[in-house]
Amino acid sequence: MGNAFERKQRVAVVGGGPGGYEAAIAGAQLGAEVTLIEQVGVGGSAVITDVVPSKTLIAVAEATNAIGEAADLGVQFFARNETTGRPVRPEVAVNLAQVNKRLLGLARQQSEDMRASLIRAGVKIVSGHGRLDGPDSIIVSTGAGADGVDFDHIDADTIVVSVGASPRLLPSAMPDGERIFTWTQLYGLTDVPEHLIVVGSGVTGAEFASAYRALGSQVTLISSRDQVLPGEDADAAAVIENVFKRNGMTVLSKSRADSVERTATGVVATLSDGTKVEGSHCLMAVGSIPNTRGIGLEEAGIQLSESGHIRVNRVARTSAPNIYAAGDCTTFLPLASVASMQGRTAMFHAMGDAVNPTELRNVASNIFTQPQIATVGWTQRQIEEGIAQGDIYKLPLSSNPRAKMMGIKDGFVKLFARTGSGTVIGGVVVAPNASELIFPIALAVEHRLTVDQVSRAFTVYPSLSGSISDAARAMHIVL
Ligand SMILES: Cc1cc2nc3c(=O)[nH]c(=O)nc-3n(C[C@H](O)[C@H](O)[C@H](O)COP(=O)(O)OP(=O)(O)OC[C@H]3O[C@@H](n4cnc5c(N)ncnc54)[C@H](O)[C@@H]3O)c2cc1C
Repeated sequence: MGNAFERKQRVAVVGGGPGGYEAAIAGAQLGAEVTLIEQVGVGGSAVITDVVPSKTLIAVAEATNAIGEAADLGVQFFARNETTGRPVRPEVAVNLAQVNKRLLGLARQQSEDMRASLIRAGVKIVSGHGRLDGPDSIIVSTGAGADGVDFDHIDADTIVVSVGASPRLLPSAMPDGERIFTWTQLYGLTDVPEHLIVVGSGVTGAEFASAYRALGSQVTLISSRDQVLPGEDADAAAVIENVFKRNGMTVLSKSRADSVERTATGVVATLSDGTKVEGSHCLMAVGSIPNTRGIGLEEAGIQLSESGHIRVNRVARTSAPNIYAAGDCTTFLPLASVASMQGRTAMFHAMGDAVNPTELRNVASNIFTQPQIATVGWTQRQIEEGIAQGDIYKLPLSSNPRAKMMGIKDGFVKLFARTGSGTVIGGVVVAPNASELIFPIALAVEHRLTVDQVSRAFTVYPSLSGSISDAARAMHIVL
């Protein structure tokens, strides 16, 4: 039993996104006195501007696509012209004002639910901008005083920094929130843009380009590389680029946008070779920068990388022993799932509980284009470069009976298994619901299952997951 005079561990968490939220909940559960400092809203960018709104918009785009593709399955829509009585081809109309109102409402509700959970868990929430004042104290400007400025001073035994990241801005293409946008500003649109130029073909650019094309915009995607989604599985990126082009999107490869400016009626992007691309609106998706400047990190003994990310180890500890960091502000992967895991791990470690250090290679991630791309484990490139030893097997979905029934035209399952032992070390799924289909492969990677163990489990017939089992069976090692 604890000493009655022993005081609780004081934990201060700066930032209430997935990283900070999970750290706060775990800290309270483990008996710490937790204060969470948040300047915008609980849930962070993940809930308010990034994951929740974008994935809700994409769900709408998927619904629009499903209607468009239903004709391939024999579903016909028609309406009658009231005067002539003749059938006419109806058009799918997206009410973007209603879509955006709904998704912002969902985000707000999610933020409120998370705030309520924190309060129920006993976490104290302080609204304001936090800045470290040495390694064991935080100053919060709360804006609560009579002159709009007031400061709270919070002492802590352990600090978790989880301040996230913000869209990178280019001085020659400054967003105005009316015609030129960052992804955080798009949800103010009330009409589907006539012609959206998307600058940047990484995950965010590709997801929005895919979604807005499905919603009815003409889309031009400006990509500085020779293929969209640089750094992702090359076969998967090739599928997506083909689908984009087949759906009428213009993809400008090896093109760099030097500037984006407003015109009388829209926007014009000037490429480095002088070409001008005109559109009605432009989305700038050229990466993020960590929110780590000017908040006293280096003064508190925390090492940052050149890009300004906080260096952390696998238990999310920084170079200052009592300070941890989680999420997009760290040198780990910029994913909500990773931020949450780091937040929990940090608290378990700080509070002396059992810790599973985060294994980045086991992280499953998904790109919500149509079709989706999900990946886990080692990559084909790493195998081909000899960094990992493995065999590669790719099975197109065109051979899957369920895919045929559903009219799925594109996609594949790819497995990577250790040469000799057949242990699954990674995989890629390109399919309409790849985010759900990757889980069995992630389980296999996490628990080091062999291809034989994977293929021994039953899959439903007919099912897309049958292709995962078929791929594993094809990789059987003959003794
Ligand atoms: C368009 C888009 C879509 C995405 N989709 C996905 C997806 O589908 N799946 C996925 O896993 N990831 C996705 N991501 C990535 C995901 O959003 C991030 O990995 C996640 O938000 C990281 O969480 P975090 O806690 O580090 O930071 P954030 O969610 O950014 O939260 C940080 C919080 O800290 C607060 N803050 C910052 N500085 C201070 C300060 N000094 N004082 C007080 N508070 C402060 C901010 O207000 C913010 O609320 C997406 C990203 C983008 C841009």
